[in-house]
Formats: sequence, C-alpha cells, structure tokens
Amino acid sequence: MHTADVVIIGGGIVGSSIAYHLVAAGCKNVLVIERETAQGKGSTGKSMGGVRAQFSTPVNIQMSLYSIPFYASFEERLGYPCDYRPQGYLFCATSNTHMAYLRANYEKQVALGLKNVRLVAGDEIRSLFPQLRADDIVGGSFCSTDGFVDPYSAMIGFMTWASDRGATLQKNATAIGISHYEGCFEIATTRDTVSARTVVNCAGPWSAGIARMVGIDLPVEPLRRMLVPTEPFDQFPHSAPMIIDMSNGFHFRPEGRGFLLAWNDPKETPGYKTDFEPAFIEKILTRAADRVPVFENLAVNPKRAWAGLYEMTPDHHPILGESPDVPRFFFANGFSGHGVMHAPATGKILSDLILTGETDLIDASLLNFARFAEGRTIHETAVL
Ligand SMILES: Cc1cc2nc3c(=O)[nH]c(=O)nc-3n(C[C@H](O)[C@H](O)[C@H](O)COP(=O)(O)OP(=O)(O)OC[C@H]3O[C@@H](n4cnc5c(N)ncnc54)[C@H](O)[C@@H]3O)c2cc1C
Repeated sequence: MHTADVVIIGGGIVGSSIAYHLVAAGCKNVLVIERETAQGKGSTGKSMGGVRAQFSTPVNIQMSLYSIPFYASFEERLGYPCDYRPQGYLFCATSNTHMAYLRANYEKQVALGLKNVRLVAGDEIRSLFPQLRADDIVGGSFCSTDGFVDPYSAMIGFMTWASDRGATLQKNATAIGISHYEGCFEIATTRDTVSARTVVNCAGPWSAGIARMVGIDLPVEPLRRMLVPTEPFDQFPHSAPMIIDMSNGFHFRPEGRGFLLAWNDPKETPGYKTDFEPAFIEKILTRAADRVPVFENLAVNPKRAWAGLYEMTPDHHPILGESPDVPRFFFANGFSGHGVMHAPATGKILSDLILTGETDLIDASLLNFARFAEGRTIHETAVL
C-alpha cells in the first residue's frame, strides 16, 4: 500500500485544478486517481467551454470573478494555453420580465466588482447583429470578458503543472471502495490500495457513487446535454459572443469555421444517458432558424454532434467543502453546468479549506453540504 497526503478521485478539470492549487500552496504529495486511460472522458471533454460572470447569485459571480481573470492569465501562470477568447456573452431579453431580471443581475454583478458588464438596448443588438430576428428583443446584457476556453487544454495545463512539481496522476485506476478509521482513509482501486488522511471527491456526474462508498447520500444527478456543431458557415460573424435567446434558452457561439449550437431540452430526465439522439437536430435547428433566419442554410453532420452529462444539484450550485459526517472527506461536486468556468475558483477554495480550514474567496458555508439539511439552498436561475 502507498500513501499520499491528499487523494483526489477523478481527473477532470475540477480534480486537476485542485491538484494545481494544492501543489502551488506547498502540498506536493497529491495523488489523482482517474479510472480512464486518458483524462477528459467525463464531462470536461464534452463541455461547450463557455465562461461567464453574468450570474444571478453573488456566490456564483464571486467564483467567476476569480476564475475568469485566472483563465485570462493562464498561460503566463502555468506555461500552458487554455485558449481564453473574451468574445463575451450576450443575453437577449424578449420580455420586460427578462429585462428586469437582467437589470437586477447587472446591479449585483457591478456591486461585486464586475467591470465589463453593461445593459444594451434592443436597437444596439439589432445594429450589432442584423442577422438576428430581433423584432421581439427588448434589450439585453453583455459582458466583454465573458467568453470561451478550451476545457481540455485547461485541464491538461493544470495537471501537467501539478505533475511537474510533485503530484501524481494515476490513470486506468477506478476507485472501488473506501474504508476509514482513526482519521485515515484506505482507497481501494482496480490497481492497488492507497492510504491518505484527506480524500476529495471530484468524480463529476459519478460523484454520488463515490460518496456512497463512505455512506453519504450526495444529491448530485446526471442530466444529459446535447451539442450540435455546424459545418463551416460564414453568414454570421465569427467574432460573435455566446448569444442567448432568453425566449427559449437556445444559445450558440462560433466554433472553428462553423458554430456550436446548444439548447437544453426541458423534457430531458436524469440518468446516465450519453447517446446523442438524432431527433434533437431538428428540434435545435428549428430554434436556430427562428432566431437567426440565415441559419436555415446551416449544414450539420449528425455524426459530429455529441452528448454529455451535467452534474445537477437541487439548487444548481456546487457542493464544496468537508463532509459534516466524515471528517477530511471533501466534496467538489454538482456544478450544474458551470464546472469549467468555476474550476479555477473551486481549486483555490478546496485547497484553502483542505490546508487551512477557511477561505476568503467566498463565504464557504453557502455551498457546504449541510445547506440541504438546514434548508439554506440558494437558487441560481441563470442556468444554460
Ligand atoms: C454538453 C455540455 C456542455 C457544457 N458546457 C459548459 C460550459 O459551457 N461551461 C462550463 O463551465 N461548464 C459546462 N459544462 C459542465 C462542465 O463540463 C462540467 O461541470 C465539468 O466538466 C465538471 O468537471 P469535473 O472534473 O467535476 O467532472 P468530469 O470532467 O466528469 O471528471 C470526473 C472524472 O472522474 C472520473 N471518475 C468517475 N468515477 C471514478 C472512479 N470511481 N474512480 C476514478 N475516477 C473516476 C471520470 O472518469 C472523470 O474523468 C458542460 C457540460 C456538458 C455535458
């Protein structure tokens, strides 16, 4: 049996960021256990790569205020690219209720120190993007430092930096059982057994199964999300931001020489479904052509479309921090669609909590596991 100071179960972007932040803070004996033969086969490799600070709850805004500048300076800090492209997020409101919602969010975002967000008039949206059907767009909000990253590259960057300085990534090792006594965990994997005083659950959509190994019922459910990339298309500008049609949640952004289309089907039900459903193409193209009439000419190859899993919690906020029932067992789970954009902040928060028991990045009690039992859930409504 070998030992580590901290064992991280799951080598996606969240586990990798925690490994980076722990090593950067001086804790080098970190072991990341990943069941696949390569990183990125979970949600991280399926992500749309959107990063934004335009949220409705202060804690989500604060996590983005750490994470987005981190991504902006990623290559400088880690010597590895993450391909941050600050092309913005443009929310398009199609009712006064949407606009009031965006205004309330804008006020919170500015109060917390977000500098580049602004409300925009319907006419400005019409003149910026005449290709949009904008007769019903009453206004919107835009933040120029929101944008996109390459999640795979960021994950590899975090892990490479950490591995070069002492951390170990063990691939092809599935955690299959955890026992704990007298402040020590023994984690059995398909390769061997490792002992550690601290364990971090970073298993993404599979995190409830890891929590069950120590007798915890973690409220994280997998929910399928499908993305459709288009073939090359030049009738819409490639400098465009992520554009969100608030009337139905359809959103899209430039990707390569084409566009990446997303829409969260409200009929989707929880489960480990990762097959792409061909019928989804027609559903999304209908919404695409409704908002962007030239998208009627889009070509799509269904074989290039894919599905992945969101890790949903009941209040659409992550569960971060130490278990109230199993000391030194930590959660970094349930990002509800925001795990890439919040990975840098999560790494810092978890590293702080593991090494010192506190963090000044957020009020960590807001996102702890106990909030469910104590009736302190906080709902995020700006979920895409
Ligand atoms: C279609 C789609 C679009 C998305 N778009 C965005 C977006 O635009 N912006 C954004 O911020 N987020 C987005 N997300 C969400 C984001 O991808 C996730 O929140 C994030 O990747 C979670 O990272 P993770 O490291 O926690 O999980 P994962 O990347 O899933 O990593 C968990 C790892 O744990 C491993 N594992 C599981 N069980 C075990 C075990 N027993 N033993 C060892 N290893 C194990 C898995 O193999 C996996 O590698 C999107 C997700 C999807 C599916």
